Amino acid sequence: AVPLVVAVSTSLSAGNGLLIRDRAAFERARNLNAVVFDKTGTLTEGRFGVSDIVLLAGGDENEELALAAAAESQSEHPIAHGIVAEARDRNLTVPKASEVSNITGEGIVAKVDCADIRIVSPGHLARQGKAIGHERLKQLEAQGKTVVVLVRDGEPRALFALADIVRQESKEAIAELKALGINSVMLTGDAKGVAQAVSDELGIAEYFAEVLPDQKSEKIKELQARGLQVAMVGDGVNDAPALVVADLGIAIGAGTDVAVESADVVLVRSDPRDVAAILGLSRATYRKMV
Ligand code: ADP
Ligand code: MG
Repeated sequence: AVPLVVAVSTSLSAGNGLLIRDRAAFERARNLNAVVFDKTGTLTEGRFGVSDIVLLAGGDENEELALAAAAESQSEHPIAHGIVAEARDRNLTVPKASEVSNITGEGIVAKVDCADIRIVSPGHLARQGKAIGHERLKQLEAQGKTVVVLVRDGEPRALFALADIVRQESKEAIAELKALGINSVMLTGDAKGVAQAVSDELGIAEYFAEVLPDQKSEKIKELQARGLQVAMVGDGVNDAPALVVADLGIAIGAGTDVAVESADVVLVRSDPRDVAAILGLSRATYRKMV
């Protein structure tokens, strides 16, 4: 149930899989210079599977995985779903967690069997002066895998690497935009190594990595300060402020309601190639009117 504020040539845009919620923003689309894409859930499918577990202090893989799954079992984050699914696939008995709380864009904290369990980004630990030096971390990130660290009572116990699937359509979307003279930029809370690997795969020249949720809109403003007209494409709750600040906010239809309600245009088919279609349609519609 998306409130359709203004319908611009509804049949045309609907045929293109676009739901236009703000006519003025749609009109501005013809002047865009840059498109910023959120990584997880937008350029990628946002469906993570555990690919590697690296023990940092001995112990047992399954025991650490069960603790991680306990803490993540109440989280809606795609990383959480991946960890919980892996524990289920291995038929592990997952203990109950209590006092679960999110560190938005950085991880999760919980009590499991009286232990303090944290599953956090390597960047979060680095900011606390507890950087993970293990060589496998950089290697896994360079493969485009998202790595999170399980910390038990202050001690880093394991790395979990999670692989996501880059959407087939993303690479084409980037190429189509390039052909229209528009640069694509990736925005992610994930590590630099992961951003570099995924950008290389997709042909994206510029990225902002390790961006905390409340800084995403600042990055849009940075680009605008360079004189660029910027579109932002995202799917998550975290993306909403950036969608609002952008000259054109574009939500992936399969994303959260918050993202959809903050956007000017919704991609009904969740296909990043439809971003180029918006531009084409905006140019075609408003050329006729001048
Ligand atoms: P993105 O910008 O790629 O959509 P998020 O802002 O949601 O990513 O998360 C950024 C980083 O925070 C993740 O790569 C991960 O390291 C960490 N993180 C966030 N939520 C969780 C969680 N529930 N469990 C583990 N790590 C998390
Ligand atoms: Mg996202």
